[in-house]
Amino acid sequence: MAKDTAIRCSLCGRDKKESKILIAGINGHVCDNCVTQAYGIIKEESVGEQKQQVQHAINLLKPKTIKEKLDEYVIGQDDAKKVLSVAVYNHFKRIAHVAKNNKEEVEIDKSNLILVGETGTGKTLLARSIATMLNVPFCIADATVLTEAGYVGEDVESILTRLLQAADYDVAAAEKGIVFIDEVDKIARKSDNPSITRDVSGEGVQQAMLKLLEGTVVNVPPQGGRKHPDAKMIAVNTKNILFICGGAFDGIEKKIAKRLNTTAVGYSAVTDAVELDKGNLLQYISPQDLKSFGLIPELIGRLPVLTYLKPLDRDALRQILTDPKNALMKQYKQLFKMEGTKLEIDEEVLNLIVDKAIEFKLGARGLRGICEAIMTDIMYSLPSEEKPVKQFTLTLDYALEKLKNARLSQLKVA
Ligand code: ADP
Repeated sequence: MAKDTAIRCSLCGRDKKESKILIAGINGHVCDNCVTQAYGIIKEESVGEQKQQVQHAINLLKPKTIKEKLDEYVIGQDDAKKVLSVAVYNHFKRIAHVAKNNKEEVEIDKSNLILVGETGTGKTLLARSIATMLNVPFCIADATVLTEAGYVGEDVESILTRLLQAADYDVAAAEKGIVFIDEVDKIARKSDNPSITRDVSGEGVQQAMLKLLEGTVVNVPPQGGRKHPDAKMIAVNTKNILFICGGAFDGIEKKIAKRLNTTAVGYSAVTDAVELDKGNLLQYISPQDLKSFGLIPELIGRLPVLTYLKPLDRDALRQILTDPKNALMKQYKQLFKMEGTKLEIDEEVLNLIVDKAIEFKLGARGLRGICEAIMTDIMYSLPSEEKPVKQFTLTLDYALEKLKNARLSQLKVA
């Protein structure tokens, strides 16, 4: 054992006083500091290796399987699910093919998508579910934020910063990730907008997005992430990143109707116009309508797969409450079960929740808020009950009573 302070760590030179522990070896000593650092390095390296193995193993599911899995989480929206399943399958098949053969015989274009549909109809949910299913990094960006920043170049790149963060700075994994860009309709060029600045800025963001969507190497600021506190830019190739854009495109039905009418007039052979499903014009959406709405043709060209989501009707909202794998009601039942209580919910309560969501125009997004308004009191008191409560039945009267005090209009989502 060491008898005097002359004994030092053979790696860093610290003496015994400067370290908590000095571990003796055959020909020297090592201090606790060096051991901790060495452990950190080994851990980081092995995590990196594991990640590389994982990222090569993207679950390449067939379109039918993708759709079936989506059915578990997303109610309705069959058209969107089908289109999405095929696009995602082709995208990842292309990546796998190129990885195996090192080149493409026929260059297959990236199948970036654009989903059009009212807010709260499941656009984000679809994109997120796909990413979870395939086990690839996923992030959500908001196109409106990019508009507000004015000078847009750097901000568009910041979308990739988020993806890198989601991939825990594993660049190779991020390069196969999925990015959901929400509210792209808000960066539309507004030709009748009196404010020229806003107009330009919207179009500027669209321009800046082009190179990102197309596939290029972008220098991404890591923004002081955990592993790279003051790191330089990280080069990310967007060639294999799947971009899914979403937007409500309020009022696009009018553009669709206008186009369909002109077509009907222009070509007398098209007599189907009368048989159009006027209640759901969105199903006829075409890239031309996006152009009329104010997206620039170059951007539309880089989002070759276009599909729509239907507004959710009463039945769909009712199903959302109970049917998906992680449906709200299933979550509450689970929470109660953890407390040792069986939760029974009367059918009328479910109808009431749907009625309120429709009455206050809250859509699917509002379901949770309404449920919380009903459930908070009981979830507050239940865990403190002296005797365990075996069962709690949520009745219509109880729900009405709780909703009476709730200010539902404040729940309204923008
Ligand atoms: P969007 O992106 O279209 O505005 P989201 O996907 O964010 O809407 O939906 C908001 C919430 O509403 C989701 O978290 C989900 O709970 C619920 N939701 C919306 N549409 C559906 C759907 N078709 N099936 C199941 N849940 C849905």
